[in-house]
Amino acid sequence: DAFLSGIERLNPRLNAYITVTAEQARASAAASDARRAKGEAGPLEGIPLGIKDLFCTEGVRTTAASKILGEFTPPYESTVSANLKRDGAVFLGKLNLDEFAMGSSNTTSAFGPVENPWSRANDPTKRLVPGGSSGGSAAAVAARLAMGATATDTGGSIRQPAAFCGIAGIKPTYGRCSRWGIVAFASSLDQAGPVARSVEDCAILLRSMSGHDPKDSTSANLPVPDFAAACGRSVKGLRIGVPAEYTLPGLAPEIEALWQQGLDWLKQQGAEIVPISLPHTKYALPTYYVVAPAEASSNLARYDGVRYGLRVTERDSDLRDLYERTRAAGFGAEVKRRIMIGTYVLSAGYYDAYYLKAQKVRALIARDFTEAWAKVDAIVTPATPSSAFAMDEKQDDPVTMYLNDVFTVTANLAGLPGLAVPAGLDGQGLPLGLQVIGRPFDEETVFAVGAALE
Ligand code: GLN
Repeated sequence: DAFLSGIERLNPRLNAYITVTAEQARASAAASDARRAKGEAGPLEGIPLGIKDLFCTEGVRTTAASKILGEFTPPYESTVSANLKRDGAVFLGKLNLDEFAMGSSNTTSAFGPVENPWSRANDPTKRLVPGGSSGGSAAAVAARLAMGATATDTGGSIRQPAAFCGIAGIKPTYGRCSRWGIVAFASSLDQAGPVARSVEDCAILLRSMSGHDPKDSTSANLPVPDFAAACGRSVKGLRIGVPAEYTLPGLAPEIEALWQQGLDWLKQQGAEIVPISLPHTKYALPTYYVVAPAEASSNLARYDGVRYGLRVTERDSDLRDLYERTRAAGFGAEVKRRIMIGTYVLSAGYYDAYYLKAQKVRALIARDFTEAWAKVDAIVTPATPSSAFAMDEKQDDPVTMYLNDVFTVTANLAGLPGLAVPAGLDGQGLPLGLQVIGRPFDEETVFAVGAALE
């Protein structure tokens, strides 16, 4: 009830929730109370969570923040949200995001932008973005409108909004969480993960969300460790890599200072700081912005006005006309841009020059990390190159917006776990985050380092 009344009060300003399922939440909380009374409480019994509106929820509208799915109610539940329910979680509603998770500011949503709760409420000219694409998830958790939330990360969409809103968030190893029932953006990069107020809360949520799922052929058949236990582990003797290529010209001095402070803390706790090189880092952004749109153009071909959601048709429409009208009306500008880039880089004559080349560079970026793991156990970097920016900033030039993902896309291209940890405030009093990257399926070390930094 406290969370629901908080939503009633603050959501009109923040717009973090697209759909609030108050009645279902109350019913599920009552069922939780009954299970607890019988001594049958699950590990998340009664914990109120928000679900990013990219996860299909049975009987509850799932929009992907797009007009094209504006009235889509799935008849099935995503594996990740089903796992959370199985463990007793109570869902408060569906959280806003950039349309189809394409963006870094939550301004491309067909349901309107989300406001960062760190914005100054009394200064309407300073409305800040919460980051994206999981801006609704991060804003809801930061404003105490949920205890935690699900999110997804294709190029930084968990870590960047977590950093902008002063909370924690982890993108686990590719394959750790099932992608079944999550609206696909770029299938070789997409991963689900939690955002929450602390690293330990993320660990608790991730344990419930994870696990093998025969319905996703890329889901890993590995045991799920007790991530929360790893949060208390000592970092003594761990080798922490600091990649030279992440010191970008123009990086805010406060970020560099917090990065150094974080490394000092780890050193004081017995870790060894090791300078490393990830030489292909400078190619990561262009590689990502070829691979991700290519996969998106293919994944989004299914929204054709026939099978899902919106259908726009005229009396004399033939099939092609139906496709064109539906897609023209249903997709927003950023989604159309990605579809066009994606079809271009996949088209005959350009495929070798762009898509194939990007795949080769992706392999080199992954190899940089493999070589680094011979020298270090985890890597610590800033999560973002700046703190949250104003809502009207970076809107005219998509490339400026894409540059914000510079520190996060590498972990997706290499399939590695990446955790954003709140690190401190910048000169304007806005939160900044650090990122911990780890070996494949070694989220435990990532959590240990993250908890030591917190
Ligand atoms: N900002 C990146 C993009 O626009 C990442 C989005 C994401 O991780 N879903 O593609």
